[in-house]
Amino acid sequence: MTRKVSIFGATGSIGQNTIDLIARDPGAYDVVALTGAANIDQLAADAIRLHADIAITADDTRLEDLRTALQGSGVEAAAGQTALTEAGCRPADWVMSAIVGAAGLAPGLCALEQGATLALANKESLVCAGQLILSTAKKHNARLLPVDSEHSAVFQALVGEDMDAVERIIITASGGAFRDWPLEKLATATLAEASSHPNWDMGQRITIDSASMFNKALELIETREYFGVHPDQIEVLVHPESMIHAMVGFTDGALMAHVGPADMRHAIGYALHWPDRRALPVERLDLAQIGALTFRPPDEKRWPALRLSRDVMERGGLSGAVFNAAKETALDGFIAGRIGFQTMAQVVDQVLNDTDPGHIDAPMTLDNVYAADQMARQAARSVIEQRAG
Ligand code: NAD
Ligand code: MG
Repeated sequence: MTRKVSIFGATGSIGQNTIDLIARDPGAYDVVALTGAANIDQLAADAIRLHADIAITADDTRLEDLRTALQGSGVEAAAGQTALTEAGCRPADWVMSAIVGAAGLAPGLCALEQGATLALANKESLVCAGQLILSTAKKHNARLLPVDSEHSAVFQALVGEDMDAVERIIITASGGAFRDWPLEKLATATLAEASSHPNWDMGQRITIDSASMFNKALELIETREYFGVHPDQIEVLVHPESMIHAMVGFTDGALMAHVGPADMRHAIGYALHWPDRRALPVERLDLAQIGALTFRPPDEKRWPALRLSRDVMERGGLSGAVFNAAKETALDGFIAGRIGFQTMAQVVDQVLNDTDPGHIDAPMTLDNVYAADQMARQAARSVIEQRAG
């Protein structure tokens, strides 16, 4: 039986890895919707190759370009945010949520509302609106599967276990591009330096977030939301080899570690085939050749994002939406050359401190999440202007 699948963010790093797995077994899948943004040629080529029903670009100025690229193929074209959200409402059995940023929230919610299994790479949506996503999944009897490598690792380590026996969850961090840089040099880090990752090949934004540890900061919140543990039960461990992705510590002292190659097709494939485990085209690790795995505690002076994330977990409510939006805006500022690498955390800190509690304590509805998001983006832009000016 074929499964109906959609891929949101199909042209990105996770999207392309998902397509790689699906294209290896074309008879097994019936592709419904593929979405992208700027990369129209890639989006159209994949939609034609996979015989998708519809291709959607987030950029509504590119509809004609997309139509032209799809001409004669029978694949429908659409553009804009509304079309993107509607893609989430098209019936599908399995949906990959791999848009980058808070823009992934609304299409993901729609997919859950129609009961699809949502493979969630878009961690930002759990950070912004974790309770809303979980309650929507529950209400519509939809399954949420983690795709982030650490969360997939924890999920796998928990198979057959009782959450009451879980004492702690340890997620690992490679340390990113500046793991071994002298602290005083960080202020001069360039965009090109921050955009290269020692172990993983990922989209530019998450690569920079790895260097600043904002990625791990988001993942701490993602762990709390997904697994429902107390923030004090979650630890970050710097592990430069990126072979162990996470560990679960149990009340009997056992640590179950998930070891695997730094290839997202493992976590994507696990979510694609769950609850089965199927053969995947990833490297088999030769531990004798690797020789040693090393670990060190994270340095919060080097990576202030980790402390900010702890503050957000303590604050709760919509502070995750504020945190993520301020982070996305600060990252835009760094990419545009307006602020330095270390200023990103200062911007986020200031926005969190200055936020009116009314925004954070409002009930978690989609409208309130968007309101908090917009307010935080505006506030972050003002802070960036002050600092840049
Ligand atoms: P990417 O930048 O390579 O791709 C992002 C995708 O989103 C592209 O298809 C792009 O066209 C689309 N997009 C960008 N802006 C959009 C917008 N405003 N509206 C709609 N679509 C938009 O990113 P990625 O590295 O593939 O990451 C995707 C998500 O997966 C992120 O949430 C990231 O944190 C998460 N993730 C990625 C990795 C990885 O290895 N790349 C690992 C774990 C989690
Ligand atoms: Mg990760």
